[in-house]
Amino acid sequence: MHTLIGECRSGIPENVVSAAKAEGIDAEKLARSVLGGRAVIPANRIRSHKLCAIGEGCGVRVNVNIGTSGARCDPDLEMKKAQCALDEGADAIMDLSTGGDLPAIRKEVLKLDTTVGTVPIYEAVRRAGNALDVTGDLLFNVIREHCRQGVDFLTLHCGVNLDTLKALKDDPRTMGVVSRGGAFHTAIMAANGEENPLYSEYDYLMEILSEYDVVVSLGDGMRPGAMVDAVKRAKTVEYLNLGELSKRALDAGVMRMIEGPGHIPVDQIAYNVKMIKELSGYAPLYLLGPLVTDIAPGYDHVSGAIGGAIAALNGADFLCMVSPSEHLALPDIEDIREGTRVARIAAHVGSIKRLGDRWFETGEADMAEARRNLDWKRQFSLAMFGEHAKRIHDRDGDLETCSMCGDLCAVKLVRDCLGNLKMEDKKKIKKQQN
Ligand code: SF4
Repeated sequence: MHTLIGECRSGIPENVVSAAKAEGIDAEKLARSVLGGRAVIPANRIRSHKLCAIGEGCGVRVNVNIGTSGARCDPDLEMKKAQCALDEGADAIMDLSTGGDLPAIRKEVLKLDTTVGTVPIYEAVRRAGNALDVTGDLLFNVIREHCRQGVDFLTLHCGVNLDTLKALKDDPRTMGVVSRGGAFHTAIMAANGEENPLYSEYDYLMEILSEYDVVVSLGDGMRPGAMVDAVKRAKTVEYLNLGELSKRALDAGVMRMIEGPGHIPVDQIAYNVKMIKELSGYAPLYLLGPLVTDIAPGYDHVSGAIGGAIAALNGADFLCMVSPSEHLALPDIEDIREGTRVARIAAHVGSIKRLGDRWFETGEADMAEARRNLDWKRQFSLAMFGEHAKRIHDRDGDLETCSMCGDLCAVKLVRDCLGNLKMEDKKKIKKQQN
């Protein structure tokens, strides 16, 4: 078996060594996680790029979606958005283009030095001209083309099948289906009464993916699109399907991730994440949001980050950026910048917890010291978005404190009274925290 999983059976492949080194973790451990399906390293065999390990033992990752639509098609702008996301620290880019010359746009995106994902059903629908005219052959041909072009991971809605369609009819939802891929497959099954080919011909799909060692991201076609739909049946039926498909992918030596819930109340996040993890054999979990309120359009990036942080604390591994324009418009560059930053904060919050001993390396303790010392230069260098922080601080001039309390600065007052108290050794604090 010439997939990374297969190679991990007999040693530690070079990609695992490189990804572990970048992550600062033990390569042997990462190889075990890949072999057991608890971590993935998306890397199509025909393209080399900066690697990104996702899952057990790794920090929480961030993906950013870019892509044209039928309403706005400016491929150059999409490339600028992708570059902006990478400059802001995104770990992966998904090209979700649905407008213009899709292979040509993808070719440009694949020149980026990063992990790239796509959703082939979009192109299949464009080529067919109509979702209802998409055939299994067409879809598999598009999938093969994406693999051949060098895409590292594919979102494929294999778990949307006749059972989820029945659940959707038996237990209707206010928002129906909000996943584009989920909607296409649902519409096709409803029209022809036949099973989703990605489900019925899953073994064939695994053969295609293993040829290029492409990761399958098992799409959440039945994710709830509103809080009121969170407890409806279709989502849970899909979880069961994804659990079965997750196991079959691993048996076939294909790395897989699971995509998770969309809009759900905050108190339901933990059990949803844990349920998906258990059902899937602890496959890496990739989430859009989850969004924890439906009434904050314009700030859905904040809503998504709240849900994302809680999900990450409970085991989610990979967060998809939600932009401020979610539910409103195709994002512009500033939306991408803001969304990526906020998603990175959510991922960082999750990483602090899951890194265990290594949380101390994330800059949190150093920032506390820099703040106590009123060392602004160091604070800005430690900050995730230092230039932004500096711009805000400098609005009121180059002050020793900041303009919030000014001459009544609490930090300065106590420091001047007591001096710099002898701090406990960092290693000791670290031990206490653990
Ligand atoms: S002025 Fe107030 S907010 Fe600013 S550093 Fe001092 S205590 Fe903190």
